[in-house]
Amino acid sequence: MSSSNMITLALSKGRIFDETLPLLAAAGIEVLEDPEKSRKLILPTNQPNVRVVLVRATDVPTYVEYGGADIGVTGKDTLIEHGGQGLYQPLDLRIAKCRVSVAVRNDFDYAQAVKQGSRLKVATKYTGIARDFFASKGVHVDMVKLYGSMELAPLTGLADAIVDLVSTGNTLKANNLIEVERIMDISSYLVVNQAALKLKQAPLRRIIDAFASAIPAEKN
Ligand code: AMP
Repeated sequence: MSSSNMITLALSKGRIFDETLPLLAAAGIEVLEDPEKSRKLILPTNQPNVRVVLVRATDVPTYVEYGGADIGVTGKDTLIEHGGQGLYQPLDLRIAKCRVSVAVRNDFDYAQAVKQGSRLKVATKYTGIARDFFASKGVHVDMVKLYGSMELAPLTGLADAIVDLVSTGNTLKANNLIEVERIMDISSYLVVNQAALKLKQAPLRRIIDAFASAIPAEKN
């Protein structure tokens, strides 16, 4: 884990960073630099023993698992793909909400394509989630692993369907794709290194409790 009495928090830039700031404020923690303006990967806070490290969203569970960070915020999607081993997951923060869905071109006959025993070519970065989902439907999948711009795959003939995060649905609409199945709802979780939780119990508990008190109320 990160050294001695320093608490290192792993965050990814963008929605997770932005939506974690109010939770940090509840813990009396203020990040002193704007990641959109700074090139620094380690951001100081107003608390001398708390720092933020900026990592790729998919790397947050890895940093916390191996102790490069003591604590982190990561999407359920990323956590499922990582496996969650070695991570204590005390809180659903109910931030950065979205869903994992299947989408196809709006002229593609999905119902016909997923008849039991059929084959479907699926492009996604969420290969674990996609594999489990289609297995449960009895659909054989040829998986194409991508790292971004999944929306392009059905438009170029790389795949029949994609499995991707959807929030407003605007990205799908703009690319003539339609959401045909919702696989799961997603939000971000607090994850904690298990050894750090024992060795830095008091400062980590303070942060966990403050985050818990500041989680946004459930909206219907
Ligand atoms: P939208 O157009 O609002 O449906 O957003 C869809 C695009 O934003 C897709 O490219 C998604 O991969 C990405 N996206 C949506 N929600 C999230 C989230 N909570 N975290 C990261 N990426 C997201």
